[in-house]
Amino acid sequence: MTAFWTEPDYDDHELVQLVRHPESGLTAIIALHSTHLGPGAGGTRFWHYAEPKAAMRDALRLSRGMSYKNAMAGLPMGGGKAVILAGADKRKTPEMLAAFGDAVEALNGRYVTAEDVGISEDDMVAVSQRTAHVSGLPVDGSAGDNMAGGDPGPFTAMGIYHGIKAAVRYKLGKDSVKGVHVAIQGTGSVGGGVAKLLAQDGAKLTLSDIDEGRAKALAEELGGEVAAPDAIMSTSCDVFSPNALGAILDEEGIARLDCPIVAGGANNQLARAHHGAQLAERGILYAPDYVINAGGIISVTMEYLCRCHGDPCDINEVRKRLALIPGRLEEIWAESDSSGVSSDVVADRMAQKLIGR
Ligand code: NAD
Repeated sequence: MTAFWTEPDYDDHELVQLVRHPESGLTAIIALHSTHLGPGAGGTRFWHYAEPKAAMRDALRLSRGMSYKNAMAGLPMGGGKAVILAGADKRKTPEMLAAFGDAVEALNGRYVTAEDVGISEDDMVAVSQRTAHVSGLPVDGSAGDNMAGGDPGPFTAMGIYHGIKAAVRYKLGKDSVKGVHVAIQGTGSVGGGVAKLLAQDGAKLTLSDIDEGRAKALAEELGGEVAAPDAIMSTSCDVFSPNALGAILDEEGIARLDCPIVAGGANNQLARAHHGAQLAERGILYAPDYVINAGGIISVTMEYLCRCHGDPCDINEVRKRLALIPGRLEEIWAESDSSGVSSDVVADRMAQKLIGR
């Protein structure tokens, strides 16, 4: 049997814990990649994996991704991730969530969990009955717009809006997005928010969603065009903004692009590591996804630090941190231009330096 720490996805993770709780049927893996900058923070995924190895791979890769993302967001948090291995029936019980909460609590704050695919806000509220080390909990409605936390979507959208403006300035030399043509893939929480912010500045929008009614309604509200889901990536535009699926930037996707800039919030946009270099070879400026989409994580982390550490939790603190995203991107692009190394690799190297690797 091969030791799992010789697997390619194992990257000197500080801790990889198997959690088994036969009474509730819970099987989970908690992976802490790095706690160099603070507790390992990252969501919990509930998923039926074809084989346990795939669950381990997810825990290892996603926790490393969280180390990089939190570091580049300037947060005092490391990287962690948990996966709960669902059965084929995907049954999730209160007893399982309680046992999972106990496992998080036993780590004594080294791991801070949150929602991820397959875990709802209600599930996280249940986990929080057993441990305080949960971020992204719903905030009290009475706190209104002056609190960090709550739905991360609008904060993610705001960060991407700042990032697109920075890209337009850097690549096109324009100080405003007025008249700049942005093609947006996905008009959900993030893409819809980005579209509204850009529309206020007079950008020209082409919107697309597999829910075509959704894209159409938003285009009518904002005065934009609609493109079919299979046409949005080849739309001739200034900025292509992916805000739906990951892994869209593969050979075929990159060949179809007709734009000088790719800047959007979808996670893991590059299908494989070498696709960043392919974008650069085509002269396309790429905003590394985990840098430009950090607005949501900034907001939920500020809520956690406020609740558990007494840090300031007013919205201005979140806004201040969001406003740092453009500067970080500009630093990455400038380094990429001077070194000839693609922007995704430059970002990874900066993150590795921040976490002492
Ligand atoms: P969402 O579910 O609110 O919206 C996604 C939208 O994309 C939906 O309207 C869906 O119909 C559409 N869609 C799906 N497949 C599509 C396709 N092939 N073409 C066009 N549209 C398609 O999700 P969201 O919260 O807006 O997240 C969007 C992306 O941003 C995801 O990749 C997510 O992982 C990432 N992200 C979100 C946040 C956040 O705070 N919500 C933070 C970081 C990253």
